[in-house]
Amino acid sequence: MSPVDPASVRDDAGQVTLGSTLSRDLREAVPRGELTAVYQPQFDLATGTVVSVEALCRWDHPRHGLLRPDAFIEIAEREGLIAELGKAMLELGGRQIQRWRRQGREIELAINASPTEIVDGFAAHVIERVAALGIPRGGLTVEITESPPLTVLPVVLEALHALDASGVDVSIDDFGSGSTSLALLDQLTLSEVKIDRSLIQHESNSTNSQIEACMELAAERGWRVVAEGIETPEHLERARRFGCHRAQGYLLGMPMTADEIDALFAEGGQIPL
Ligand code: C2E
Ligand code: CA
Repeated sequence: MSPVDPASVRDDAGQVTLGSTLSRDLREAVPRGELTAVYQPQFDLATGTVVSVEALCRWDHPRHGLLRPDAFIEIAEREGLIAELGKAMLELGGRQIQRWRRQGREIELAINASPTEIVDGFAAHVIERVAALGIPRGGLTVEITESPPLTVLPVVLEALHALDASGVDVSIDDFGSGSTSLALLDQLTLSEVKIDRSLIQHESNSTNSQIEACMELAAERGWRVVAEGIETPEHLERARRFGCHRAQGYLLGMPMTADEIDALFAEGGQIPL
């Protein structure tokens, strides 16, 4: 199973020029169908089975080749294109999940949403597409990314509440990587927290107590906890020891094409260890 993780465009000297060219190109990328999705599996730690896939955006740029999000998400935010990008990813991932479900694969989908996307109309659009695509309650998780920091505005609280009421799960991504505190999480209507790989991969008194505090609040609130960045058997053991419900990372499965996810299903969809 070959990973689909090409190097991103990261030449410091070229980045300014590239950035301005990319922001022009990005306007055309959605209508031209240049955005694609790769899917990274998430495994249930109780059963060892693949239960969900996270759709991660890739841009098949006509001149630069396949670009990773770190080359263009910030540009999309700055240029006001992030909502359009998010809609394209919901459509791609949603249609893929619909195909799998029609084949009898009870798999869930997770998509990423930047806090700047959560404006009036965001929840209504997601709810409408989930219904149109026949995704059942709990079949879609919206992962709210860590950057830029989430501001708890009334529109955000209302959106999360509406998503929850309609059966769309909301997750806070990369918990522990930045400014998001447990006190902030506690103000939100959530179903899931994803613990950042910096906490999973580095064992110290500080990371241990952050994970423990997160697990404690998650248990009280009934949130699912996903451990990100599982790269070694030790990371997996750590996630299990803390009682995380799900795990995701290069050890378990790289971001891959839909065909490669099919091959994973064909092999039984179990943690490959
Ligand atoms: P994220 O949501 O935290 O996604 C996980 C990122 O970490 C992915 O990088 C994935 O390839 C990588 N990863 C997964 N497992 C491991 C591991 O074991 N070790 C390490 N070192 N990395 C791992 P990717 O695909 O380059 O995405 C980067 C970020 O771009 C994502 O981070 C997410 O914040 C953002 N992003 C991706 N797709 C979208 C999208 O459709 N919309 C928005 N708003 N943001 C997106
Ligand atoms: Ca994510």
